[in-house]
Amino acid sequence: MEFDPDCLFCKIIQGKIPAEIVFRNENVVAFRDITPQAPTHVLLVPTLHVANAGDLAKLSPTVLGALFTAACEVAASAGLDGYRTVFNTGESVGQSVFHVHLHLLGGRSFSWPPG
Ligand code: AMP
Repeated sequence: MEFDPDCLFCKIIQGKIPAEIVFRNENVVAFRDITPQAPTHVLLVPTLHVANAGDLAKLSPTVLGALFTAACEVAASAGLDGYRTVFNTGESVGQSVFHVHLHLLGGRSFSWPPG
């Protein structure tokens, strides 16, 4: 694990900031979003500090895949029959925390295209 001491999500992974952790393995930690946009809104993050999904894809496709595998498990645990997964990559599309995180949203209906 490599942490950035100034990163909010690195602090959550290390237990320095409280969060409701719903899943953890060697490569992935999942916790509930503090401002949920759906009845289930979980953030899945790699234990390695990487800024965004593009950087993670280059660095470790395996860990990128592990985020989706974990999302599938969390969705099954929550009893979701469908769910949406989203990476915001870059400030211009709404990324606000620069430790890559996969949003898992479910428990309500969603429209398309997203806003
Ligand atoms: P994004 O805008 O895609 O970078 O998503 C960042 C997400 O992190 C937002 O949905 C926030 O609500 C969420 N967030 C910010 N601070 C915390 C926190 N302390 N615990 C859990 N989620 C957080």
